[in-house]
Amino acid sequence: MPSRLSHSAKADRNRFIALYVVIALGLLVAAGMFVYEARVIVDDSVRDEEAFAVLGAANSVLDNLEDAETGQRGYLLTGDESYMSPNRQGVQDLDDTGLRLQQAVTGDEKSLELVRRIEHAKTAKVTELARSIELARSGNRAAAIALVQTNEGKRYMESLRSDLGQLLNDWREKRRVAARDAHVRLVYGTAALAVVAVLVCCLLVYTLFIQRCAFAKIHAHSAALDREAAHDPLTGLPNRHRLLAAIDALATPSADDLRRTGLLYLDIDGFKSVNDALGHSAGDALLCELGEALRVATRKQDMLARVGGDEFVLLATDCGDDEQLRQLAGRVIARVREVGDKRYAGRFQIGVSIGIATYPDRTDTVEQLLEVADAAMYASKKDGRSTYRFGISPGRSASNVVKMMR
Ligand code: GH3
Ligand code: MG
Repeated sequence: MPSRLSHSAKADRNRFIALYVVIALGLLVAAGMFVYEARVIVDDSVRDEEAFAVLGAANSVLDNLEDAETGQRGYLLTGDESYMSPNRQGVQDLDDTGLRLQQAVTGDEKSLELVRRIEHAKTAKVTELARSIELARSGNRAAAIALVQTNEGKRYMESLRSDLGQLLNDWREKRRVAARDAHVRLVYGTAALAVVAVLVCCLLVYTLFIQRCAFAKIHAHSAALDREAAHDPLTGLPNRHRLLAAIDALATPSADDLRRTGLLYLDIDGFKSVNDALGHSAGDALLCELGEALRVATRKQDMLARVGGDEFVLLATDCGDDEQLRQLAGRVIARVREVGDKRYAGRFQIGVSIGIATYPDRTDTVEQLLEVADAAMYASKKDGRSTYRFGISPGRSASNVVKMMR
């Protein structure tokens, strides 16, 4: 069956996939918007250039006509041929500027109509200028001046100026609109980029947050697994595995500096009778209560472990002398009796047999503590139960301890 952690890993993976899809979509949308806005800005600048060309060409038409007219006036008034030079230049340039104007407004019907009218007025004006110059050249200056005084040329110029003015206004407005549009697009493009930047930052922070949560979950799960592997599920006490690790840790190269260590091996007396009479769960409840009573009777720095059915081990580093160990064993026996009496009021004889081993005076190595204490516990059982005995490694001797029986 999939564990809670793998469920949560799957949920995290799905969340990440969703996040990356959102990031990818967000970036695509933003990139699309940015490209679109950039294209519009380029179009706006092309329109601006077109408008600039129209304005330039329109102004040139007017300048050329004014040059041609100035030359004509000077010639008519003075008869000086040198005035004809700006006139000729102006008329000559007009063809070119007229063509430029026509090309610049291509595609805009209203402007094309205006340009046609300008072209018409321009041709009429140029013809009127040419006629008056021709008259003057043929010696009929009075007729030429009379022609000017009819104001026919002035009317052509007024009509031309009015149409040019309208054209200039239209294209100035187009430039203004293009510039404003480019500005707005620039603001939109920048805003799109800013939104993406904020979005990516938020998603980054969120990703880090999810990652931290996932690491915390993995950490908690592995801590729980470690705890489970090292503890007895019934009483919550360290198990045999954990006890052996603690004993191993004592057997380090610096074990020589180790202070006197005692190990008490406990086996409950008469436990099976509870199981047999009241059932396994009653036995479990008794084991829990005994575990708790023994834990309370144990110093903080010592380790109480459940190593088998009704077997517990108390590992006491820096355990003091034998007298202190006797007192400790006596306290443990009293506590276990108390629990049995309180629960069963004499119906079952619950007690505890204890075997004690000490390092370095009774065992050669720290690892021997468990074996020696276990054997001593059996000696207690044999000697009537609810008592304690000290054990010693084979080959060692001491007057006040029970020798190991094998
Ligand atoms: P003695 O006085 O000689 O120690 O005998 P005892 O009645 O205490 O029984 P013994 O120590 O020989 O056996 C312990 C029993 O505990 C054997 C087993 O059925 C039972 N047992 C082992 N593990 C559990 C457990 O987790 N829960 C319960 N309820 N009983 C268990
Ligand atoms: Mg027992």
